[in-house]
This record gives sequence, C-alpha cells and structure tokens, in this order.
Amino acid sequence: EVVTRFAPSPTGFLHIGGARTALFNWLFARHHKGRFLLRIEDTDKARSTKPAIDAILEGMRWLDLDWDGHEYYQSQFWARHAEVANELLARGHAYRCYMTQDELAAARAEAERERRPFRIVSPWRDCAADAATPDLPFVVRLKAPREGETVIEDQVQGTVRVQNSEIDDFVLLRSDGSPTYMLAVVVDDHDMGVTHVIRGDDHLNNAFRQLAIIRGMGWPEPVYAHVPLIHGQDGAKMSKRHGATGVMDYHEMGILPEAMANYLLRLGWGHGDDEIIAREDAVRWFDLDHVGRSPSRFDTKKLENLNAHYIREASDGRLAGLVTPRVEALIDARLDSAEIALLTRAMPELKPRAKNLNELAEGATFLFRERPLDLDDKAAQLLSGEGPRLLARVYAGLSALDEWNAETTEAVVRYVAETTGTKLGQVAQPLRAALTGRATSPGIFDVLVLLGREESLARIADRMM
Ligand code: GLU
Repeated sequence: EVVTRFAPSPTGFLHIGGARTALFNWLFARHHKGRFLLRIEDTDKARSTKPAIDAILEGMRWLDLDWDGHEYYQSQFWARHAEVANELLARGHAYRCYMTQDELAAARAEAERERRPFRIVSPWRDCAADAATPDLPFVVRLKAPREGETVIEDQVQGTVRVQNSEIDDFVLLRSDGSPTYMLAVVVDDHDMGVTHVIRGDDHLNNAFRQLAIIRGMGWPEPVYAHVPLIHGQDGAKMSKRHGATGVMDYHEMGILPEAMANYLLRLGWGHGDDEIIAREDAVRWFDLDHVGRSPSRFDTKKLENLNAHYIREASDGRLAGLVTPRVEALIDARLDSAEIALLTRAMPELKPRAKNLNELAEGATFLFRERPLDLDDKAAQLLSGEGPRLLARVYAGLSALDEWNAETTEAVVRYVAETTGTKLGQVAQPLRAALTGRATSPGIFDVLVLLGREESLARIADRMM
C-alpha cells in the first residue's frame, strides 16, 4: 500500500510551495488508492500556536485535500523519538556527546581560522558507552558512517550521491531530551508506514542524513521524490516580494480553489499540453515521472486565466453564494434572499466577464445599489451631451411596453436610434450609464430584464431630461 504524508511546520499560513507539496502527495496516494496522512510538525512550540495550525488546516480544506484519519502532531511522539535514540545508542549507531558549548565554539573557530568547513569531530564518538559521565549534560549524536557513499534514487532528481565523509555526526536528541527535526521526521515516517516521501528539494540534503538513521535502525527505506521549489517571475525563489505566498491570500484575491489546485498541479507537473485538468483526471494521470526537474515560475496571469475558466464552469448558485459576502462588503449592506436569487439569475451574464470573484462582485453591485446611482467618471461622461434627451425617448417607449423582455426592450432602443438618426451604441451607452452607473456591464437588454420594469424606469428617470 502506498502511504504519503504532508508534514508542514506551522508558520501561520499555508505557503503555495507547501500547498503544492500537499497536492502532489494527495494525488499520488489517491492515484494508487493508498493513504494520505497529515502530520503537523509542531516541535517548535513557540511558533506552533493554534491559529498557526488552523491556518494550515484551513488551506488544506479550501483546496479540498482531505487526509486519512485524524491529523498527527509530532510533539505527541517525543517519548518514542527518545526511545529510538536510545535504541541507536544500544546498537552502536549513536553516542552520547559531552562536548560543552565552549568546546564546540572553539572547534568552530578553529575551522574558521583554517578556512575549512566545520564538521564536528567529537572525542566521545569512539568512547565505550559505559565511559559516560552520568551527571553532565549531553546530546545524542548519530555515529554517521565515514566510509563509502550514500546513493539515493530520487524519483524526480534521478541518482544523487554523497560521500559519507560529508555527513556529520548530527544531533538526534538535545541536552534537554527533545528530539531534533532530523530524528523526529524519520521515526514518525517509519511509524506511520510512509512509503513515499514527496517534498521540496530543499530537503534533499536532509534525506542523506535521514537515511543514515533509517539504516542504523535497519528500517525499510522510503522512496524519495524531491520536487524543485517554486520561483517567482524573475527566477528567484518565491518570496513575499513576488506577491502573495499564502494560498489563502489567493482566496482573498478571488481565486477559486479548483483553479488554484489546477494551477499548482501544472506548476511542476505536466500531462502533454493540457492546461485545464479536472481533479478526477489529475488523480487518474498523476505520476512522479512527469514532475519537472527545474524550478517552475509562478505566473499570476496563467492562474487568472485558469480562474476565469473555472468561474465560467461553476454553477450559478455556487458562485452567487461565494460572491454574496464580497458584494455585501462593496455595497455595505446585507443581501436578502430575493437579492441573492437575483444575483443567481444574473450569473450567466456576469460570470463570462470576470477573472476573479472580486471582479465578479464588482460587476454585480449595480443590481443592488441605491438610487440615485453613483456614476463613475466614464458613466458621467456618457450622460453629458445628448444622452439625457435620448433617455427621455427611451423612457417613453419602454413605459408603453406590455411585455418586458430582452426582445421588446431591444425593439424600443432600436426604434429610438432609428427615429433620431443616431447609432444604436449612442443610445445604448447612456442607457447603460443610467442603469448601472458604469460604462461597462453585461448586455444592456439583459440588464433591463434583470432590473425589471419598475427599477429600470426609475433609474432612467433619474438621468433623463
Ligand atoms: N516539516 C518540514 C517542513 O515544513 C517538512 C518535513 C518533511 O517533509 O520531511 O519543511
């Protein structure tokens, strides 16, 4: 059985790089009908606050990445981590190191003076276990192999090798008995039965150290897949200055979760030239062979294009629900159920025009604004000159209609254009400005139908001469 995991350290938000790692692990597990586990690496107690953890869970839920069973918390397994450290001691793969801070600092200073990289050489490495001085503080270090090399057949990076002489005797247990990340991650992955470790390639170096622990314990080795990091447009590692880096920032910006997930999938994995990939297809097709080896560049334009696509695909009812709070914020009022029904009816005209939910909300506000409508500059421009006089004729024609629909209202506007010798647009534009307060909106006859007879005539009357 395939078991993958996502193992975020709580930082207060779910980073887009982390979200992509989670997505790849999720897809790989679902593709193989295995399990996908979530483990919160909350060993840094100061940072691992409840809000920081909730922010990660919120991002996962938003992206619809469900994990199997309950989420695990690394801090629950500290006793187990210590147990494994002791087992490594007993097997002769680890040792108690009593070097003091001063001794370490002196060794570090010496390496610096001699301009060589600092690698710990502890005099305690080769002491017999019973030579230990029980009362002094110590750390437990791995007795890293010195000979030979360690080779990883990474599913993304290919064959990667490191001389064992490069691997230092890193700390497993600190002097207060707490485990280091390096130990904890290995023990937890083993105990949770993780078969595939898929994560950012900033962890590739750690993998060699982690393997040394795994081999010391004689445990099965997981398959590794280290995915290149996400970069910004300029090719530098994605950071705040490239724009939003938390997934929920994209929620704020009006990106739909399925668009975000589709975008993150394409960022580093490909299926031919397909850009739009539905979740079921992603599950069917996902593999590690098609994860790219070079860093991908985050492209907000592409994300927005995908988002526009998913907005057009989304059902009108769902969109109305998503957009309602955004509309309410813009008009500073609550929508009642009749207004939400109107918003839903307007969706077929509104959604093809929006790249994100905020634009969609902005495009919908005219439906709910109080009369007399505020005009933006372009709308005010359209209502100067001949506009108000033409509107008076439109008003006369519309108020005489028996039936109010897109065809009958269009016939009136055309008639006014013909009888006054103006182009259709010269009548329609002031009409649009009067009805919406804007120079752009859905088709003007759709607007007339959505607003209805009474509201339309009142808005025209506000602006006619
Ligand atoms: N907790 C680590 C991090 O957030 C990831 C550990 C791992 O995936 O092995 O970077």
